[in-house]
Amino acid sequence: MTSTETQSILVVGGGISGLTTAIEAAEAGYDTYIIEKNPYLGGRVAQLHNYFPKMCPPSCGLEINFRRIRQNPKIRFFTMAEVDSISGEEGNYDVKIKISPRYVNEKCTSCGKCAEVCEAEIDNPFNYGMDKIKAAYLPHDMAYPPRYVLDPSLAKGSEAQKVKDACPYDAIELDMEEKTLDLKVGSIVWATGWKPYDPAKLETYGFQNYPDVITNVMMERLASWSGPTKGKIVRPSDGEAPKSIAFVQCAGSRDVNHLPFCSGICCLASMKQANYVREQYPDAEIYICYIDIRATDRLEAFYTNVKEDEKINFFKGKVAKIDQSEDGKALVLRVENTTTEEINELTVDMAVLATGMEPNTASSPLPIGIPYDEYGFIASKNPKPGITGAGCSRSPMNVSEAVQDGTAAALKAIQSIVRR
Ligand SMILES: Cc1cc2nc3c(=O)[nH]c(=O)nc-3n(C[C@H](O)[C@H](O)[C@H](O)COP(=O)(O)OP(=O)(O)OC[C@H]3O[C@@H](n4cnc5c(N)ncnc54)[C@H](O)[C@@H]3O)c2cc1C
Repeated sequence: MTSTETQSILVVGGGISGLTTAIEAAEAGYDTYIIEKNPYLGGRVAQLHNYFPKMCPPSCGLEINFRRIRQNPKIRFFTMAEVDSISGEEGNYDVKIKISPRYVNEKCTSCGKCAEVCEAEIDNPFNYGMDKIKAAYLPHDMAYPPRYVLDPSLAKGSEAQKVKDACPYDAIELDMEEKTLDLKVGSIVWATGWKPYDPAKLETYGFQNYPDVITNVMMERLASWSGPTKGKIVRPSDGEAPKSIAFVQCAGSRDVNHLPFCSGICCLASMKQANYVREQYPDAEIYICYIDIRATDRLEAFYTNVKEDEKINFFKGKVAKIDQSEDGKALVLRVENTTTEEINELTVDMAVLATGMEPNTASSPLPIGIPYDEYGFIASKNPKPGITGAGCSRSPMNVSEAVQDGTAAALKAIQSIVRR
């Protein structure tokens, strides 16, 4: 073992918080590894249409980070990679990484010839399964690294040779196998982020039965030019433009049976999405059914603007149930207006469940003992020396908070190395 090796920092998760940690630490002079399980960097932010408060597309923020990575030889990243085991202690951790085969090497120019000849299709994970893609695919239009992936079913199936032969650059390696990598690092930052709360668990909202009940993350993809409808917000059931739409706040959140905490983002996300609908359909009637609106800090101004829009109706009440209308063409939301105490039925064309952010660490904890809070987020109290959480693995937060948190984690990771 050399001293350089234990001066390195491992960042697990290549979302906005992990990217920030890695870049800040590398720009301070430390060798950094990023381990990302997806075939691309950028995390959930890459899947947003626009992000508040500036409402710019994610590519503008992410591209700057990718450029900083490209220009910095101190950063190495591995996609389709996960941590298998961790042993050791602060200043001297041994980490085993498992890298799944991509079946496509660095010679790929993303020309797309493999996808042209490929007939097999898979559900598109980037669009939350709302459409299909070829089994030889670029994960999304702005993917970094810009390199295709072969689904294992294709690489091991009857079309494999045809797809390989179509590549003019000899970039397809059908015999690629899972690899392991052993790293020695001084400190570790765990930035594995969040996943949307599973809407199937919200039985009274009919997500599994009614196609026009979607979730907030699906709405981001529907509104995006690179989404399943090329940015047109339409009803999944019939492709028609919605004339009315309801946002169901706290779908599972602040509920002891589901996610007992508030994600702090869903109110603003729904208001942002109400604006997406307004831009496309100025006459659409929009309802936001809420318990309380949570718009913190400077984002209060965003709320104030949306509230002034006469087409966006704030309805104070938690939706109890969603049914289909008798003719099957609309959705009926049963909701008590807590201001008037009347039970109302709202009939709308589409409903968006504002589901919260569940930490990935709740279902996939670290392969070494560290403290978590009651919801599965990495706890800040009594941390294991040399291991720091960053971004939404620590708490629900927005992008600018995740960037600040990533920077703070870089400093902690550096301190772990320097103080030894
Ligand atoms: C509907 C919705 C809309 C939103 N809109 C906005 C907005 O407009 N503005 C805003 O500021 N915020 C918005 N947010 C919040 C924003 O998405 C988060 O702030 C951001 O994703 C946090 O980044 P992160 O890096 O902490 O986590 P993530 O984005 O989740 O990134 C984590 C990364 O870790 C990877 N990973 C997970 N597990 C592993 C593992 N075991 N090994 C290796 N890698 C792993 C993941 O693949 C991912 O790339 C929104 C959230 C929701 C729910």
